[in-house]
Amino acid sequence: MKPRILIVYTGGTIGMIEDPETKALKPFDFTHLMENVPKVKMLDYEIDNIQFNPPIDSSDMDVAHWQLIARSIADNYQNYDGFVVLHGTDTMAYTASALSFMLGNLSKPVIITGSQLPIGEVRTDGEENLITALQIAADQDSNGVPTVREVAILFENYLWRGNRSTKRSADNFNAFKSNNYPELAKIGLGISFNYDALAKTYHSQPITPHYELDSRVMSIDLFPGLNESILRYQLNTPGIRGIVLRTFGAGNGPTEDWFIDAIRDAVARGVVILNVTQCVNGGVHASRYMGGDYLLSAGVVSGYDLTFEAAITKMMYLFGLGLDTGEVRRRLAIPICGEMSITNQRRM
Ligand code: ASP
Repeated sequence: MKPRILIVYTGGTIGMIEDPETKALKPFDFTHLMENVPKVKMLDYEIDNIQFNPPIDSSDMDVAHWQLIARSIADNYQNYDGFVVLHGTDTMAYTASALSFMLGNLSKPVIITGSQLPIGEVRTDGEENLITALQIAADQDSNGVPTVREVAILFENYLWRGNRSTKRSADNFNAFKSNNYPELAKIGLGISFNYDALAKTYHSQPITPHYELDSRVMSIDLFPGLNESILRYQLNTPGIRGIVLRTFGAGNGPTEDWFIDAIRDAVARGVVILNVTQCVNGGVHASRYMGGDYLLSAGVVSGYDLTFEAAITKMMYLFGLGLDTGEVRRRLAIPICGEMSITNQRRM
């Protein structure tokens, strides 16, 4: 039996063409994309597709688009061995994180890819990325068990766990990285899977998608010189339910009373605040320094080594489940699908 793969084409540079007047890149249709990758036929797979109409630059991605992608996968889950989502790179890590939470019980590959150069250009990285993504989506062991059973990003030389990934370069072909989790596969002459890092669970139960996301969330970045009234204004944003607080180092903020009081007041009003670090590598160890410890005692939840992309989408997902504030806080601190590692490092 030939592998059956469903491609969900959302847009992104991979399928873009140059506007003849402005010379700016704009999304174009899937037929054009496939015409430029005749090699796909050499794979001898059965490939179907669902396209966004119109395809979009991923900077336009929003919750409704995530619902569309999740629905395309969930509605067709039983009919395909794997799924490839073609997506712009700008918000790919957010989509990968959101889908990882939305697609409950996932036990098949959902491989997201795109490119830095459009597929029609001579030096495009799109052809290689698309073909490798299809091969990974089709890969199974001799018992028919898919190798990848999670949402992952394939880009140039690596396959990364989706909810651990971050776009790290606007220019390089190796545009993504997971700073706190090893690669799921290295791509060279062959595809070398890192079986220790891949999600282990396997079952043949139906997928349990969850489509509702609550977008009444935002982020606040700490920086030296942060103004008290501006911070209070942000914390008082009407309707806000959750805030990802991007802190210094191991999860630290100022120790001054005005700062901790402002945070404590927001928590008392029922705003859920999640602490993630601004560092690209490592995570929050809230009680290592006073600044982190104060945040902890003010009721801020530790996000350990969550990426910002996973933190914001995990909040949207948990609020979208209709949970109360206490339950959202409790579940934020527990991994759902491999998005964070809980470590309690002691100083030695
Ligand atoms: N602006 C494009 C997008 O995210 C960039 C890309 O695809 O690489 O859709």
